[in-house]
Amino acid sequence: MQQFIREFIEDVVHRHRGNTAYRKPLVGFARAGEPGFAQLREAVAPNHLLPGDLLPGARSVVAFFVPFTGELVALHRRHPFVSREWAEAYIETNSLIDRICHVLSETLHARGVRAAWQKPTHNFDPVALTSFWSHKHVAYLCGLGTFGVHQMLITEAGCAGRLGSMVIDADLPGTPLTSQEYCLERRSKNCAACVRLCPSGALRPEGLDKQRCYQHLRDVDRCFHDLGLCDVCGKCATGPCALGVPGAKGEI
Ligand code: SF4
Ligand code: SF4
Repeated sequence: MQQFIREFIEDVVHRHRGNTAYRKPLVGFARAGEPGFAQLREAVAPNHLLPGDLLPGARSVVAFFVPFTGELVALHRRHPFVSREWAEAYIETNSLIDRICHVLSETLHARGVRAAWQKPTHNFDPVALTSFWSHKHVAYLCGLGTFGVHQMLITEAGCAGRLGSMVIDADLPGTPLTSQEYCLERRSKNCAACVRLCPSGALRPEGLDKQRCYQHLRDVDRCFHDLGLCDVCGKCATGPCALGVPGAKGEI
């Protein structure tokens, strides 16, 4: 079933026709009983949900990463503010992730498997800015990558893209956690490019000021109000880890 789910997601992304182009998605799996999910109540927020909260009887978790292209990353990086293409990609990819979850859920249902999911974004506490279901932490537990200084997940296809995840009641083996450290800075090699790329000063070597970052995202939203809720920036996702593991492949 892992192969079926992986190919299904790849196929939906491949068939997608819109303004945004994508590279091949990555898909990972975790057992719903993996202790790491309970630990997210300490690492993320005390009210972070467990797989069983999304779906009583949950057995496995599926996470996927839909990577943007190098062209979009380069365009956004060059732009003095936030490129319209990046803003549109944010909106379009969130819709695509919703669609993947819907159609995959329906297809699995026909095979006798139940599924549940949280929407790709805006599932967070608007005051504390903590997520009830952190797709990036779920994707980490599904073996999709490691965290960078920018606090995003760096996958084998980089960090420029969007993450989705769902919970199902079929037993699947988990993907091993990524054993290698993907962030250059955390590999004791000088980088901190994401810190230099941050236009708001929210990202510093010692950590991320989430409130300051989100204030900037709200400013961006005001500029793209015609697109819908567009609280996005992601300049920090256009550095050497944007398209792959830096030092391995995909550097820009
Ligand atoms: S830009 Fe450099 S320091 Fe920042 S997350 Fe990527 S690899 Fe790590
Ligand atoms: S999303 Fe933008 S404002 Fe927030 S940390 Fe990244 S670069 Fe800075």
